[in-house]
This record gives sequence, C-alpha cells and structure tokens, in this order.
Amino acid sequence: MKMKKSEVKPFKEALLLLRARLRGDVHTLANAALSSSTVNVSAVPSHIADLGSDTFELDNTLQLITNEGETLEQIEGALERIESGDYGICVECSGKIPKMRLQVIPYTPYCVKCAAQIQEEER
Ligand SMILES: [Zn+2]
Repeated sequence: MKMKKSEVKPFKEALLLLRARLRGDVHTLANAALSSSTVNVSAVPSHIADLGSDTFELDNTLQLITNEGETLEQIEGALERIESGDYGICVECSGKIPKMRLQVIPYTPYCVKCAAQIQEEER
C-alpha cells in the first residue's frame, strides 16, 4: 500500500529540513524560520507541528546521527522514493514501514525488522 501524497508531504518537508541542517544550509533554515511567522506561506513548520512534538523531534533525530554523510545519502534516497511513490515501503522486503517509525527516522529505507537484521549483519 503506497502512501497518499498528502500523507507523504510532511515527511518530505521534514526530510528537506533535515538535509538543510546536515548540510549547514543556513539560508534554507532561515527561510523556514521566517515562514513560521508569516501566515500565507505553505508553512513547513505547521505541518511538522501537526505530527506531534512527542513523536517527531528533529533534534532527537539528529542525535541519532552518527555518520552524517551516510545519513545525507539516506535522505536523498528517501526523497527519490517520495518522487517515485515508493516512500514508506521497505526497500528490503517491500513491507510497509510504520508511520511511527518514519516520524522518528523519516529517511529510513527499512522496516523495523529489516533494520534490525541489517544491524545484526554489520556487527
Ligand atoms: Zn523490511
């Protein structure tokens, strides 16, 4: 089951923000900050706020990041999957990635099961 465009949108916005932060793209961040104080912009921050602050914290997500280069690659991959309509589907088993997981790690290409397996193999 593919996600609807409207469902994917907040994740796409979160990914773009994350990517900007990782790249140290101050300009993009400044724009995002500005748009939160204006009313008629297509409001990135309000969508992120809609996800609920307890499940979606960019700062917490960033704390999970150990390898920024790898994370950037995963973000790029996730954005590609959004474009191709495959976002939210595990690249390993084609299973659905739970939304709760995507809210914590929006760039993950794997479901919980496959991610655990891959971590296991990498050890
Ligand atoms: Zn999987």
